[in-house]
Amino acid sequence: MPELKLKSILQKCGVVGAGGAGFPSYGKLTDGADLLVINCIECEPLMYTDYELVREKLPEIVQGAQLVMEHTNIKRAVVAIKAYRAMTLGLADSQELAPGICVKTVPNIYPMGDEINLIYQVTGRLIKPGNLPISQGVIVYNAETVYNIRNAVHENMPVITKWLTIGGDIPEAYTVKVPVGMRISDVLKAINVTVPKNYVMFDGGPSMGIIKNPASDVVVKTTKALIIVPDNIPAVVQKQRTVEQNLRLAASTCCSCTRCTDLCPRHLLGYPLEPHKLIRAGLYPAQETPELIRTASLCCSCDICGTFSCCQGISPMMVIKEYKKILAEKGMKYVAAPGQEFTPAENRDSCMLVSQKWKEVLGVAKFDKHPTYIPKDLTADKVEIRMRQHIGVPSVPCVAVGDKVTVGDMIATAGPGLSVPQYASITGSITFVDENRIIIEA
Ligand code: SF4
Ligand code: SF4
Repeated sequence: MPELKLKSILQKCGVVGAGGAGFPSYGKLTDGADLLVINCIECEPLMYTDYELVREKLPEIVQGAQLVMEHTNIKRAVVAIKAYRAMTLGLADSQELAPGICVKTVPNIYPMGDEINLIYQVTGRLIKPGNLPISQGVIVYNAETVYNIRNAVHENMPVITKWLTIGGDIPEAYTVKVPVGMRISDVLKAINVTVPKNYVMFDGGPSMGIIKNPASDVVVKTTKALIIVPDNIPAVVQKQRTVEQNLRLAASTCCSCTRCTDLCPRHLLGYPLEPHKLIRAGLYPAQETPELIRTASLCCSCDICGTFSCCQGISPMMVIKEYKKILAEKGMKYVAAPGQEFTPAENRDSCMLVSQKWKEVLGVAKFDKHPTYIPKDLTADKVEIRMRQHIGVPSVPCVAVGDKVTVGDMIATAGPGLSVPQYASITGSITFVDENRIIIEA
């Protein structure tokens, strides 16, 4: 099967990055790669989704990797996983899983799941600022994405289910598979979990996740975890402070110590990202040069600069996020000049943040518990399929209110450009359609 055919299957089946921003997977299949990295790192605290997938579906993940390798002519793949998790799964560093595919263990460091850090850790190759992994011959897919690639090719199965961790300050944590579009309130009800008063729920981990409303939000293809925590822990307090509040705090307390820059994992890779300068630019617009603002696009939003580094409680990341929004609106980003060289800091290894420390700083260490795996998929009697579950152009509904659909039917086509279709995740009738969502009721 040539590469083009795999691309068209992945697009047709709506496969997008399951572990991050939802980049359509077919868009990563280009010539010039010699290494496939399967990202099973899950560096956010309290997350066990990829761990469970590797435990339950490693042969299928390996099959997905083989498909990508065959169709892109890549000879080598690594399943990148934290060393302590590999050990509990009975896997060892360098263990061969299939010809050309082996395990690669990495230390328990945050944010090791960031693909730029991961590629450097696993291969020693540094992706130049603003470039894509393919520039160094690497394609990175999350473990669940590769599993979905396998299902798309071998089973002709579109992406209609999602693996999740449900954890945090709840009596028992779970990993479970649910229909895409299931209301979060229904997910929590099905496993008898509530979000008490003065608690919040993260869609994702407690450092990079987004606080969502469990009463109105739904599971999308990029939902990796639902983490329920008290609203007074550092992980939440930092996120709820506005940019203006951060800048006011910085105006009176920032001592330009540069600790936020010294410990920034992208800065430690040699990237020209200096959060202390971006904070200063936010305070003193005269320092806001276009060159400096462009460096904000290099931030991976790990929040080490705020919650861990800054002794004054300032979050440079929140200010950087504002700059990133402006850059995105203007279609601008930092791109390394041809021939420009970047060198990781000599002290990078000793400055990286140990995950256990990160958990403690966020205030979530006491909530970390190994989840119970629920082998039977949860079912839903109503789902809301969003048209924007991926980076790129939104999907376009192709059904009308009153239409009957069966699980797996296409309900939205791919939009023009980088896009994928959407599929019914339950059997039922269409009860609502607009440009943003489609509701199906059983
Ligand atoms: S760590 Fe805090 S106080 Fe130090 S430069 Fe950064 S923002 Fe300012
Ligand atoms: S959030 Fe802060 S520490 Fe993390 S990459 Fe961005 S600037 Fe660096």
